[in-house]
Amino acid sequence: MSDLYERARELDAKDELAGVRGDFVLDDDVVYLDGNSLGALPANVPGRVEDVVRRQWGELRIRSWTESGWWTAPERIGDLIAPLVGAAAGQVVVGDSTSVNVFKALVGAVRLAGEGRDEILVDAATFPTDGYIAASAGRMTGCSVRAVEPGAVPGEVSSRTAAVLLNHVDYRTGRLHDLLALTAAVRAAGAVSVWDLCHSAGALPVGLDEHGVDLAVGCTYKFLNGGPGSPAYLYVRRAHQAAFDSPLPGWNSHAEPFGMRSEYEAADGVVRGRVGTPDILSMLALEAALEVWARPDVSVESVRAKSLALTDFFLECVEAYVPGGRVESVTPGPHGERGSQVALRCVDADDVMRRLIAGGVVGDFRAPDILRFGFTPLYLSYADVERAARSLSHELP
Ligand SMILES: *Cc1c(COP(=O)(O)O)cnc(C)c1O
Repeated sequence: MSDLYERARELDAKDELAGVRGDFVLDDDVVYLDGNSLGALPANVPGRVEDVVRRQWGELRIRSWTESGWWTAPERIGDLIAPLVGAAAGQVVVGDSTSVNVFKALVGAVRLAGEGRDEILVDAATFPTDGYIAASAGRMTGCSVRAVEPGAVPGEVSSRTAAVLLNHVDYRTGRLHDLLALTAAVRAAGAVSVWDLCHSAGALPVGLDEHGVDLAVGCTYKFLNGGPGSPAYLYVRRAHQAAFDSPLPGWNSHAEPFGMRSEYEAADGVVRGRVGTPDILSMLALEAALEVWARPDVSVESVRAKSLALTDFFLECVEAYVPGGRVESVTPGPHGERGSQVALRCVDADDVMRRLIAGGVVGDFRAPDILRFGFTPLYLSYADVERAARSLSHELP
């Protein structure tokens, strides 16, 4: 066996997060490197969902809106996500999809920016849904929409700019953008920042409060393991809450939802980011999934440290095992610019990934030529990483 195989054993023996794997449902013969697309199933979720369905719904029925805490779940679960993104309580609300929250945040941002600003800047490499929504938000608000590389934002943002929508981590390359510096540049121009945290929350520190972010959104089915289609979240900085004017003012965001009044009056606080009746089954599955963060050995910092060690080790194994020139990493080397995935450019990447998956190493393919491997520190071992690189070398002889 190779030195790297031995090294993996040693790293696993010292891994302080090794015990967390048992909190997830995984196959020992599969290396799951797609947790950045759909996180693995936490072992406590099936029992929780069973209780929510059979007892809360089946027995308590309508009483559960109060007695089982259904009505307040969007804010309660928002407060569980808040510390993971560096937010104090009362600024995160859970519900709807990421796409819908991008819409709320972006139109809300243009309204916060006020008169005289007629342009939205959007991350040129954004996950597509954000771009589609931004185009529609632009038409609705009378703003032009311009695609800008995140690194170019400080030079492009101006007194014309209402809002800037950026992805914290590029979903294809795994590049981590400088949230602190870019947010500061947006603020200095008097514009409103909107960050999409889909590929960073649950994988690395975000620091929303500390870095002065205005609005943010993210999904919960990637690094937060909430399950397929689990609801997304919206962060509204406390200082903006009184002025935040949601473009989807549903009855759940009303100051007096059961007053059934014909005039709308927004609730105080982040509650005004709600829309309609929350999807309780998936929301409460998410609440159970978030319990792993209450373990004493799990923190955003411990997860980030292991994430960087895993991606470093993967790049080292790929370098050692895969013949030169067969793959090229498009993920930045410096830790400050790397999310929790490694993207390798490769000829016939689609076919290579199909064969890897057939052999039990599950990553994904992103058109046109990217092999994408997500590293989820809560349940991956260094042995998994070494095996994945070895399998890749077998597919690229
Ligand atoms: C995964 C992802 C989305 C997904 O949007 P949904 O509405 O949840 O399907 C949006 N933005 C980014 C950056 C993503 O990575």
